[in-house]
Amino acid sequence: MDVRVGDILTMKKPHPCGAKEFLVLRSGMDFRIRCTGCGHEVMVPRVKAEKNIRQITREGEVVYPPEKNPTGKLPADKGEQ
Ligand SMILES: [Zn+2]
Repeated sequence: MDVRVGDILTMKKPHPCGAKEFLVLRSGMDFRIRCTGCGHEVMVPRVKAEKNIRQITREGEVVYPPEKNPTGKLPADKGEQ
């Protein structure tokens, strides 16, 4: 899963404060994310965070899941034409 610094992650499980969106401050083996509700920062192992991601927003556009992005067509069917 492609997660970059500056992305907004919408999580399946909300933060205790009620917010579900987190700003990515650092990406790598671990993510450092900041809750957009209360500003709390947490470190989460990538594998654990990825299981909890429902949506990724980058520069105002949804980049994950791909089917939610009307403009970002996947170059999947270029095949042998
Ligand atoms: Zn919070």
